[in-house]
Amino acid sequence: MPELPEVETVRRGLAPVLVGRRISGLDARRPDLRFPLPERFRERLVGQKVVRLDRRAKYLIAGLSGGEDLVMHLGMTGRFTVVHHGVAEQPGEYVHETGPDLAHDHVVLRLADGTKVIYNDPRRFGFMVMMPHASRPEHPLFRKLGAEPLSEELTAAYLARRAFGKKVNLKAFLMDQHVVAGLGNIYVSEALFQAGLSPNRAASTLANARGGPTEKARKLVHAIKSVLESAIEAGGSTLRDYRNANGKKGAFQQRFAVYDRAGKTCLKPNCGGTVRREVHSGRATFYCPRCQR
Ligand SMILES: [Zn+2]
Repeated sequence: MPELPEVETVRRGLAPVLVGRRISGLDARRPDLRFPLPERFRERLVGQKVVRLDRRAKYLIAGLSGGEDLVMHLGMTGRFTVVHHGVAEQPGEYVHETGPDLAHDHVVLRLADGTKVIYNDPRRFGFMVMMPHASRPEHPLFRKLGAEPLSEELTAAYLARRAFGKKVNLKAFLMDQHVVAGLGNIYVSEALFQAGLSPNRAASTLANARGGPTEKARKLVHAIKSVLESAIEAGGSTLRDYRNANGKKGAFQQRFAVYDRAGKTCLKPNCGGTVRREVHSGRATFYCPRCQR
């Protein structure tokens, strides 16, 4: 499943293709993805200019000149392919590779400059919805989303305020999209590892008796931003390599410090612990019981 860094990498790859361009055609090859495609999808898109391409949590949001937003979610296996002058490129690299399969090219956006942007999604957990830009923050998908992790909204004080008096553990607290938006299983494990905090620790320990942030909250905020930023940077460099490779895909080496390393030696210098895998609410958590307390 694409996590926030992959979605951000896709956004950065698509933005120069889409922003400032007019949509001249749309092929919707089936009526639905996870949900039905928007009503009058073609009429609402064709003729519109894309004025910006934003990301909120794991949603890509194309702002259109007519005032509507096209919101796109990649689900489990969604990808975009850009075809320009007969050359295909896929912005963003994924932890789990999905093969190209034309049968799953569900939506094709045609741009006035001849570029095609193809949405492919074998499992169809992705979706596209449209809504007026002005009312988007109140839309059920967005209304209750928590702080955007790479924005200034996410601070130690914010985490402490949300964690104050909470009974849940840190893993569940960080997985809650109403607290931090778009942070998934992989990067929660990575951030807790970097911060040296156990996923089983009570979230309430991020706050002091007055609800202010503890040192742990400060470390955690720094770790969340840092793991996401490095992952985006890695995606970005892979994208550049990919573009230089004459259409040949380079091997993508996503390196995790703790995720998926069960039974292996902890990578923290001088720790010597062994990474443990535990299942919380059906999702695997990886951590080092020696240096994560
Ligand atoms: Zn360790």
